[in-house]
Amino acid sequence: MPIHILPPHIASQIAAGEVVERPSSVVKELLENAIDAGSSRIDIQIEGGGREIIEVNDDGAGIPSSEILLAVERYATSKLETIEDLFAIQSLGFRGEALASIGSVSRMELLSRHKDEKAGARVVVEGGKTSPSKPVGCPIGTRVVVRDLFHNVPARYKFLKTDQTENRRISDLVSRYALAYPRIVFTLTQDGKQKLVTTGQGSLREAMAGIYGYEIASQMIELAEQQHAPFQVGGLISPSGLTRSNRRELTFFINGRWVQDAGLSVAVMQAYRSLLMVGRFPLVVLNIDLPPDEVDVNVHPTKAEVRFKDQKKVFGVLQRIIRAALVGQAPTPGFSFPNNQTFPSGNRTEGDWVSARFSTAGTSPKYEPAVQTSLPAAGMPLLRSLGQFGTTYLVAEGPDGLYLIDQHAAHERVLFEKMMKAVHEGRIESQNLLTAETIELTTSQADIVREKLDAINSLGFQVEVFGDATFRIRAVPVLLAHISPVRAVQTLVEEFEEDETPLQAEVEELIAARVCKRGAVKAGQVLSLEEQEKLLRDLEACENPRTCPHGRPTMIHLSVQALERQFGRLG
Ligand code: ADP
Ligand code: MG
Repeated sequence: MPIHILPPHIASQIAAGEVVERPSSVVKELLENAIDAGSSRIDIQIEGGGREIIEVNDDGAGIPSSEILLAVERYATSKLETIEDLFAIQSLGFRGEALASIGSVSRMELLSRHKDEKAGARVVVEGGKTSPSKPVGCPIGTRVVVRDLFHNVPARYKFLKTDQTENRRISDLVSRYALAYPRIVFTLTQDGKQKLVTTGQGSLREAMAGIYGYEIASQMIELAEQQHAPFQVGGLISPSGLTRSNRRELTFFINGRWVQDAGLSVAVMQAYRSLLMVGRFPLVVLNIDLPPDEVDVNVHPTKAEVRFKDQKKVFGVLQRIIRAALVGQAPTPGFSFPNNQTFPSGNRTEGDWVSARFSTAGTSPKYEPAVQTSLPAAGMPLLRSLGQFGTTYLVAEGPDGLYLIDQHAAHERVLFEKMMKAVHEGRIESQNLLTAETIELTTSQADIVREKLDAINSLGFQVEVFGDATFRIRAVPVLLAHISPVRAVQTLVEEFEEDETPLQAEVEELIAARVCKRGAVKAGQVLSLEEQEKLLRDLEACENPRTCPHGRPTMIHLSVQALERQFGRLG
């Protein structure tokens, strides 16, 4: 075939493919236009998974009737004039492609009335062909109706999923925007059924309640709106006990634009490290605002990816803010700290938990208050062991009731933090084996070990490749000296096989968590009173004493009030 210039309608269909991949991409572009127009209410109606009808109504500023024909042209926009504007962009749109693209792969009707005009205008685009515009009577705002999407692009049409799947993508998307713009009322109707309504009252938590339900919304931890010049980060994050089995509920908005960025997910997961069970993911809605010149939004036609000028800094700030909020709030099941409870000060006497607590604080310089009036929410109260129960739990007394501590989970946490500290300080202790042991693995297991060898060895193992699927173990972490080296390595491998491929940055911690699970005291193991006390003291010293490295609780609390209520001593 000789080289030839493609006819305009084919060229525009090809270009449209980048912007309009499926019904939800149409919804996204129309939503963004409605938001850019300053709407306070946006109604969306979908029929047949978006294949049949996508209709978006807004009450925004509208399009002047003299410009309505231009609006559907390619590269026609009111949002950008010079290339410099691109680096100071405040609007969601700027490429001037959406309406043209949608019009080239559907039958599109655009009705709009500008806020300063008495009447509106209507224009129809079918398969890229625009008919003359006509005046119409309509309220201020814009309505776009998209029918028969991809009727002229069978290849695209074929790739669409079931109505149900396309509907889910659409409601997912609308939910996201509803979260980013809690001041706008969003409604979504699919096949006549109302799927979503937000109140537009302006609170993120309320918008969340409209989407995830009140129960979940009420548990979310609010990130105090903080200035980390030049970034501003706000939003809601789930406590470690509220998780999902996939990453889908990690939602990020950069300057009000929903973006999918693997790097941001990694930063969030790092902040949650060791607080979640393996394979569990938090719910997070983050609004990140930064000067437009700090971020490039023109990476992809769908504008769903961004590039940061200083990515490391953004991730670092995010991690710190989230980690701080989490550590400040990690709850113990059934646990509530009394507000402003005061404790008498005194010298430490055996068994006196109150003064013991403050004698540890007493090592700090004089000018710090000797008596704290409230307990730090993240730490744990000083506990006194009363004994062991069922050779599995420690029973302990605390300032406000009884605690049951899972000895295995607690010890796992203690070992894990010790180990990670040692790793970070480069002083992990390993014990050489008198005679090296060999371990034979399946080919896929061997691949796993080879891939993770550096991480495994940085934790105190000394494992080397000995054959295709054979490895030689020369040393193990001291923590694991009491179990069979082959068994220790085997455990790691088996657990890695079960996991979804963890993020590279999580691998080390994952291994450490495994190792500690192996090394920790077991349920059913008898502990002497000294061992019990030691475990409690070690747990107190932990950064996150309330969960094991896999995110399970280490302790359960029975408050004095709860006991008194049970015994009928209280109202
Ligand atoms: P872009 O949003 O990138 O500018 P679009 O093709 O999506 O490109 O829209 C073209 C132009 O049409 C916009 O710049 C805007 O002026 C106008 N427009 C589109 N949708 C709306 C709307 N809902 N309300 C007001 N104006 C709109
Ligand atoms: Mg647009």
